[in-house]
Amino acid sequence: MADGADRGPGAGATSGRAPAQAPERAMWCDERFDFQGTFLQCLAKHVPNIYSAEMDPLLEKQEEMVQAAILYPLECYLFGEDPDIFLEKLQQSGTSQLCGKVFKGGETTYSCRDCAVDPTCVLCIDCFQNSIHKNHRYKMHSSTGGGFCDCGDTEAWKAGPLCTKHELGSSSSPKENSECQLNEEIMEHSRRVFPSVIKYIVDMLIWEEEKELPPELTVSREKVDSYYCVLFNDEHHSYDHVIYSLQRALGCELGEAQLHTTAIDKEGRRAVKAGHYASCQEAKEEIKRHSENVSQRPLHVEVLHADVMAHQKFALRLGSWLNKLMSYSSDFRQIFCQICLKEEAGSEKPCFISKLMLWDAKLHKGARKVLHELIFSSFFMEMEYKKLFAVEFVKYYKALQKEYISDDHDRVLSVTALSVQMFTVPTLARHLIEEQNVITTITETLLEVLPEYLDKNDKFNFQGYSQDKLNRVYAVIYDLRYVLVSKPTLWTDRLRERFLEGFVSFLRILTCMQGMEEIKRQIGQHIEVDHDWEAAIAIQMQLKNILLMFQEWCASDEELLLRAYRECHKAVMRCSTNGRSREKTVFHLCGHTLESRPYRVSADPVSIHLPLSRTLAGLHVRLSKTGAISRLHEFVSPEEFQVELLVEYPLRCLVLVAQVAAEMWRRNGLSLISQVFYYQDVKCREEMYDKDIIMLQIGASLMDPNQFLLLMLQRYELADAFKKIKPTKDQDLIKQYNILIEEMLQILIYVVGERYVPGISNVTKEDVIMREIIHLLCIEPMAHSAITKSLPENENNETGLENVIDKVATFKKPGVSGHGVYELKDECLKEFNMFFYHYTKTQHSKAEHTQKKRRKHENRDEALPPPPPPDFSPAFSNVVRILNCDVMMHILRTLLQRAVELETHLWTEAMIQMVLHLLSLGLLEEKQQLQKSPEEEVSFDFYHKATRMGSSALNAVNVLMLLEKLKRVPQLEAQKDTVNWILQMFDMVKRLREKSSLTTVAAASASEAAKGDESTQDKEKAERKRKAEAARLHRQKIMAQMSALQRNFIETHKLLYENTLEAQGKEDAIMEEESVSSAVDYSKIALGPKRGPSVAEKEVLTCILCQEEQEVKLESAAMVLSACVQKSTALTQNRSRILELSGDTIDPLFMHPDLPCGTHTGSCGHVMHAACWQKYFEAMQLNFRQRLHVEQIFDLENGEYLCPLCKSLCNTVIPIVPLQAQKINSEDAEAVAQILSLARWLEIVTVRISGYSVKNAKGEKQNLPAFTNRGMGNSALEFHSILSFGVQSSAKYSSSIKEMLILFATTIYRVGLKVAPNEADSRIPMMTWSTCAFTIQCIENLLETEGKPLFGSLQNRQHSGLKALVQFAAAQRTTSPQVLIQKHLIRLLGVLLPNFKVEDTPSLLEVDMFHILVGAVLSFPSLYWEDAVDLQPSSISSAYNHLYLFHLATLAHITQIVISSATESSTACSPDNSEEAQSAQSFCREVCQYTSGCFSQDIPGWLVWDCVKKGIMPYLRCAALFFHYLLGVSPPEELLQDSEEGQFKALCSYLSLPTNLFLLFHEYWDTVNPLLQRWCADPMVLSCLKGKSIAIRYPRKRNHLIELPEDYSCLLNQASQFRCPRSSDDEQKHPVLCLFCGAMLCSQNTCCQELVNGEELGACTSHALQCGAGVCMFLKIRECKVVLIEGKTRGCLYPAPYLDEYGETDPGLKRGNPLHLCRERYRKLHLLWQQHCIIEEIARSQETNQIFFGFNWQLL
Ligand SMILES: [Zn+2]
Ligand SMILES: [Zn+2]
Ligand SMILES: [Zn+2]
Ligand SMILES: [Zn+2]
Ligand SMILES: [Zn+2]
Ligand SMILES: [Zn+2]
Ligand SMILES: [Zn+2]
Repeated sequence: MADGADRGPGAGATSGRAPAQAPERAMWCDERFDFQGTFLQCLAKHVPNIYSAEMDPLLEKQEEMVQAAILYPLECYLFGEDPDIFLEKLQQSGTSQLCGKVFKGGETTYSCRDCAVDPTCVLCIDCFQNSIHKNHRYKMHSSTGGGFCDCGDTEAWKAGPLCTKHELGSSSSPKENSECQLNEEIMEHSRRVFPSVIKYIVDMLIWEEEKELPPELTVSREKVDSYYCVLFNDEHHSYDHVIYSLQRALGCELGEAQLHTTAIDKEGRRAVKAGHYASCQEAKEEIKRHSENVSQRPLHVEVLHADVMAHQKFALRLGSWLNKLMSYSSDFRQIFCQICLKEEAGSEKPCFISKLMLWDAKLHKGARKVLHELIFSSFFMEMEYKKLFAVEFVKYYKALQKEYISDDHDRVLSVTALSVQMFTVPTLARHLIEEQNVITTITETLLEVLPEYLDKNDKFNFQGYSQDKLNRVYAVIYDLRYVLVSKPTLWTDRLRERFLEGFVSFLRILTCMQGMEEIKRQIGQHIEVDHDWEAAIAIQMQLKNILLMFQEWCASDEELLLRAYRECHKAVMRCSTNGRSREKTVFHLCGHTLESRPYRVSADPVSIHLPLSRTLAGLHVRLSKTGAISRLHEFVSPEEFQVELLVEYPLRCLVLVAQVAAEMWRRNGLSLISQVFYYQDVKCREEMYDKDIIMLQIGASLMDPNQFLLLMLQRYELADAFKKIKPTKDQDLIKQYNILIEEMLQILIYVVGERYVPGISNVTKEDVIMREIIHLLCIEPMAHSAITKSLPENENNETGLENVIDKVATFKKPGVSGHGVYELKDECLKEFNMFFYHYTKTQHSKAEHTQKKRRKHENRDEALPPPPPPDFSPAFSNVVRILNCDVMMHILRTLLQRAVELETHLWTEAMIQMVLHLLSLGLLEEKQQLQKSPEEEVSFDFYHKATRMGSSALNAVNVLMLLEKLKRVPQLEAQKDTVNWILQMFDMVKRLREKSSLTTVAAASASEAAKGDESTQDKEKAERKRKAEAARLHRQKIMAQMSALQRNFIETHKLLYENTLEAQGKEDAIMEEESVSSAVDYSKIALGPKRGPSVAEKEVLTCILCQEEQEVKLESAAMVLSACVQKSTALTQNRSRILELSGDTIDPLFMHPDLPCGTHTGSCGHVMHAACWQKYFEAMQLNFRQRLHVEQIFDLENGEYLCPLCKSLCNTVIPIVPLQAQKINSEDAEAVAQILSLARWLEIVTVRISGYSVKNAKGEKQNLPAFTNRGMGNSALEFHSILSFGVQSSAKYSSSIKEMLILFATTIYRVGLKVAPNEADSRIPMMTWSTCAFTIQCIENLLETEGKPLFGSLQNRQHSGLKALVQFAAAQRTTSPQVLIQKHLIRLLGVLLPNFKVEDTPSLLEVDMFHILVGAVLSFPSLYWEDAVDLQPSSISSAYNHLYLFHLATLAHITQIVISSATESSTACSPDNSEEAQSAQSFCREVCQYTSGCFSQDIPGWLVWDCVKKGIMPYLRCAALFFHYLLGVSPPEELLQDSEEGQFKALCSYLSLPTNLFLLFHEYWDTVNPLLQRWCADPMVLSCLKGKSIAIRYPRKRNHLIELPEDYSCLLNQASQFRCPRSSDDEQKHPVLCLFCGAMLCSQNTCCQELVNGEELGACTSHALQCGAGVCMFLKIRECKVVLIEGKTRGCLYPAPYLDEYGETDPGLKRGNPLHLCRERYRKLHLLWQQHCIIEEIARSQETNQIFFGFNWQLL
């Protein structure tokens, strides 16, 4: 909204509100004038002018004019003083104690599970953060928009209804309220102003004339022929459709069409053409015609006169003006509401607010928003008026809902969406029920909107339904749910009557559902079209909780419950007429008969939808629970009751399920399978399957047990199966019978055994949930979310899990990945019931398997008998009689007999298991009864029946005898333990029967004895088990060994690779130790004359592709390591630096000390023959071309491929160059030491270089440095002197190695600089050195942050990658022209030796010294190059070269550190006066002198030394790594350990440095002094010392991912305050946090796209280019997901490092539990970054989750 009038205190809002038009103002102030008339005149005069330029409006200008011409005078009149001053006063006085903040889509809302009355009660983030609920079990969710904050609503919260902010307002309000109350004059003015304003708004919004205005707004001036063609928004046409239609119809540019479309989508309408009436009319027709072409309906277009358009626009502006005003004072709100509700006397016309409501569906989007906000800010802020509004709302409810159902806008834009704000308020809901009969109103609305789905029998049929329309109907159903959400505690007669009336009305809906969508078994042909089943099931799901709530409401009042039961019973009976016409038939079995009307599920129509029957079942258990059942006969007479009829339909439904399982309904297609699935699924089962079981239990409790079972047998169509066996050969039919028998037995088990329903037995809701959880956890340990998903939710979306979970389970925390799980407590295992009725078939067998395995593990028998069930409540106590009735005995005996007689095809093991289960239930029941009451009172005689002969035949046997025989049936070996258990039970019951005449003590001791018996048996069994277990373990071990042998090489290799870091570290350490011990005599010094020998073993590697081994040798064919080269900003501190996208002009020789962007080379450590790799790569290219595999995740053009073994993303290979073992003769070396001092070495080098330059100068232009020989004395030295200290011939590499050297070097160059490959480019060697140095720095950094020792703790892949990289970098020189290498060397040396006058040499503070060191060391051998022979320095020469180069670089680095730390403030180190401190002091004096005092001499020596010692560490560590991998000299042991103390000394010793580093200066003073002078004199250095520029401090800061808050809602808070930097609209944003630098970005939105190299990139992608050189890590805050991206095309999602208290992540905040930072997981992300594995992770994730291909990462 263009609401520029922000009246925050002190805001300069007056800019456009200058009190212009003074005469007019005066007139307004006149008391006597007619306000209405003047107001309209004023509008008529100004409005058309202000909004004249509709096509291209200047919004700011418009707003200015509105303020000046209309609003300012209006406010002056209203307030009687300056509006700004007045409103500021009013605001400060604090107004409402209701927050009332209206949510926009995407905003986070909070609800408290402990205190909210229902889940629709929510808080805004501000209120939440200031409320007590912050420390409760809260939930966070994303608003869909349209709701508002309930802070301050005492009815919404059981506790803490006010946040501290609003509490303050309310506590101080009584006192201040008097002050802030408007004075009578203002109230009077308001009463005059508001009616006119409101009337104008209403009139204009519902104005339908296109051409004319109301007469009072028509100005006398001539009417201009100026019209607009206005296009309206709808939900049918896509963005692209509209753009297309506009382009065609108006012939406009794409850009303009897009502009229009965006505006239409946002505001709801827009003028797309201005002109004369005719031309607009023409455009209208054109648009309609074109839009009709692309979609079914035309777009909604109107032609409006410019003045009409203007007034409608202004009406909205006035609406938002009022909206603002409302927030200032309760008096304004009340006056406003009064006027809105005022009905014209004697008129039937609706009041203003109702008029608007009724017009809502006709308004465009923008107008609706204003209207709804106005309702929120006025009516909903005043409880009294909210009630009155609700009454109006319900008055027009039907009409409003019907409008909504035919509307084409989303629900959030409909006024009907406000229902939740009223219906969920308990007192309001009760008021609406009592006074407005809202339940009936809603159900009647439903009955009126649903008839189009009624068939000829008045049952619903949703075939061919429209999903959209039905979704709108659901909204009405939801309203019903809202009204019912809080159960009344107090019933009045009126409430009871009204509720019952509503209930009866609701039963009418259920009647239309009872038996709807009947199906008939398809025989012969498969059905042609699967019918639409989803709608009916979806409605069932919607109704589930409403049905439960109705039942609960009924149950809270006995009178009501009985009356409701009567109504429901009547309704069921009315629907149970089916089959009345048929003649009854008679069925005999075991001397019992059943008379019933014939019906076959397999032949007659059947329906799965029986909500009436199920509601009745629900009411019945509630009758039983409350005890009201004793009065049932007063309401339903026994004759009417007809229990057989009640059971009939649910039974049919269960039979249908059985027949589907028996595959009898195969030809009915998938739709039936799905329905059966949902019938039993957790989303529906409470009001479907569960209630059907209850209905059977009701049947079993009220019918004769034999009759009941006969009915079961008949409906299962199994009557024949239990008569004499008819020999049938039809295998399919037998199988079918067997499944049906199993299904029926299972249902019988449930009918008798499932008693965990309040009312059926005396259990509580908690007991029920506990039992559900126990059975879930008996399958396996589960995550919190998995358990939640498997439990039914109540109307408040709660499962009740938290209240009980700790009683039955223990929580096991998650590791770095995965999630936390709950494990069942041992004491709960005894509750396990194998035939738990909510188990699916798979769950059943999984649970059985798990439990048997567990018992086996504990050396116990495998019997899993049922746990003793709770006692039935009195109303259901008769159910158990079906266990010991004749028909049941017959069934059990028949099945056992079949098993014993080995008629294998007529029984199954599952069937026998169920028979055994039923036997156990019978025995348990008898035992329990016997233990409770004396024998003679127990009529339940299961034992007796089971031990009685079934018939008088000679071969007759009883159940007990059959069981004995069963033990010998080989197929039933697995059931033996269960059979034994049952036999023991028989024994126990027998004893109880016999001994019950004795005292109870005896009975108890008998059971004790039985237990003792059990235990000796157990012991024997245990022994047997243990032996078996031992044998099994032995077998397992052998099997494991065998399979280990068989496992192929790749597998083992992969395993090695995947080992954890720690394990690797240890292995390496051991390896190192071994080599150390063998070389124990050798010195562990890498540089100089005392240099130790290279420890280079023979390396034999296996190619992962051809599996052949090969030794790595110079002259052999090349072997390579797969590798990935990438640009990296992982080490920089300064991410705002603008990186160049292409490196065409970059000079990479010198690295800036901040390490802004390096080139990292990583490897997964897998070795291949170069030839094998090339073949592999070519094959892949070929494959790619042939298959046109569009979704290729790697870019073959750029050399990308996946490592054939580990599938890491690679883009090149590193050739493996063997280390040339070197050993020096220490005597020779000592001898050389006598002559080759640093000074002399420098001279020799200088001469050599100048010699080259002279030589080259002959050929080409002089561009090599001219030398100043100052201080270099002896010029007698000549060009060849350098060779005199020892040379050797250069290494000869095989051509294949050379080829790979070139290939890899070119890749580094290409990737590192983002340029086209060019093998001849002079920068190739620079890049080689640079990546070598940078990669070492990355590894050093990683080891340090992880606190690992420098050597021996690298992963294998890092170790072999680094080794190969350093050796490659040393060898690469040989493939480039030596002149070129020399040129680079000279430039590098130029930094250290300023007497080499080379142009562009950076100052000491502008280079990274380690890069210089690596470059200089690797390029130095080029100085040995002679025309004819390929020479390189001998070992001794190298040793000195390395030593002096390193010392020079170190001296320079120390100087860098000292200078850059000049302004460092003192640290906590205590001063001392050590030798080092003194040396430091004297060094500082020199520096001070050379910088002409810029360097302060006052810094104490000890502090300088401290800085140097700390600052130089990373450099020394890098150097040690570098020289180790270059030379192969073993490091001292201290570096293999993680100790701070030893490290520095060991490093100094390894690198031939004095531990007092300043001694180096002393030692070389003569040589160094001039260098130091020049270093310090550099203008750059001086400017830094003067504080004019900032130098990098050492040690450099190590990078970490940004600090994240512990509590996720802090982040959400940040996100809520996020404002897009580029746009000011209030649309939903996707704030995204860069985890590298902490920048908050506006993602996935056109406003923040950037044009980079001609491509539109999203905010994230373009930020990543700069922040992470293309690779970056973001946190999508609203979705709680991490996004990794690389370049423009790749990315993946990664779980955010936040866990809820159950150890689970919550992507999308779907579950909404409080989330807390998990440090380990965040550290894992940090490592992903620092190890440069982000690209790898993306590739891996893209390979597994193909979905992400569709995503346009570029626009992220
Ligand atoms: Zn709030
Ligand atoms: Zn609040
Ligand atoms: Zn709370
Ligand atoms: Zn190979
Ligand atoms: Zn690999
Ligand atoms: Zn960033
Ligand atoms: Zn933006």
